[in-house]
Amino acid sequence: SRQFTRPLNDLSNQFNTLLSAVAGAERVFEVLDEEEETKDEEGNEDLDDVHGEIEFKDVSFSYEEGGNTVNDISFHASPGETVALVGPTGAGKTTIINLLSRFYDANSGSILVDGREITGIKRKALREHMGFVLQDPFLFEGTIMENIRYGRLDASDEEVREAAKEANAHSFIAKLANGYETMVEQDGSGISQGQKQLLSIARAILANPVILVLDEATSSIDTITEMKIQEALQRLMEGKTSFIIAHRLNTIQKADQILVLKDGGILERGSHEKLLKQKGFYSELYHSQLQREIG
Ligand code: ADP
Repeated sequence: SRQFTRPLNDLSNQFNTLLSAVAGAERVFEVLDEEEETKDEEGNEDLDDVHGEIEFKDVSFSYEEGGNTVNDISFHASPGETVALVGPTGAGKTTIINLLSRFYDANSGSILVDGREITGIKRKALREHMGFVLQDPFLFEGTIMENIRYGRLDASDEEVREAAKEANAHSFIAKLANGYETMVEQDGSGISQGQKQLLSIARAILANPVILVLDEATSSIDTITEMKIQEALQRLMEGKTSFIIAHRLNTIQKADQILVLKDGGILERGSHEKLLKQKGFYSELYHSQLQREIG
């Protein structure tokens, strides 16, 4: 799959600047490759045949020297499991994803994919097994066809359409005057936030990565589109190890494990039922604001 070379928090801005003059997907990648943020270390290896087992062992990290952004994070996800990251803004959810993607390396502890330390794996090789569906998915100036194909550049038109169908995106695309040949404006105007998400899901379905990262939208999307997104995500997540920065109760309840983060640490963990019974921070969050959203 084709992936990003920027940490999560500044993805969309960076891309908009970077892509402003670029039309085709292949050109995009030449640019991104040149812009790769950190060179791999000597001896970094490729990553083949990934099953998607992920383990964090006593991981600590700070963006600034002497700081303490995340502290002593340990968890294990079996292949195919869904892990929901929940907690207030600034708790460290995005940072955990940035570490898993090797946008930053931990200061101490280790992160393992299928039992292998990711610091020994080439960044690009690692991210080829990862798919990202972000709140504000980045689209580039090009056709809808090109924007979906970005997930896998050698996909045929038919494969792109199939992915769009699975992502519940086909019906809105088919209604556009130029269908798949519709040009996406650089600012994505003319396409709703929810439709952008569907395109991004289609892209990820096409890429078919082993590891998925979902950053659930906090902004309100109309109910019907929201249902389409939820359904498409379920299909996309099937059999993949998925990490969701979760805000929707529905998503959180379905997760195999919930990691409740606060001030850079895992405060509580377990299933929705277990965490409610515990009557701790999660239960408090749930009762205070979960009817709308969490975290
Ligand atoms: P969350 O995703 O749970 O909202 P983050 O992982 O984004 O939390 O942030 C954790 C902490 O790290 C916050 O205090 C945030 O301000 C800080 N932080 C995030 N990104 C950076 C960065 N690039 N440089 C310095 N500090 C950062």
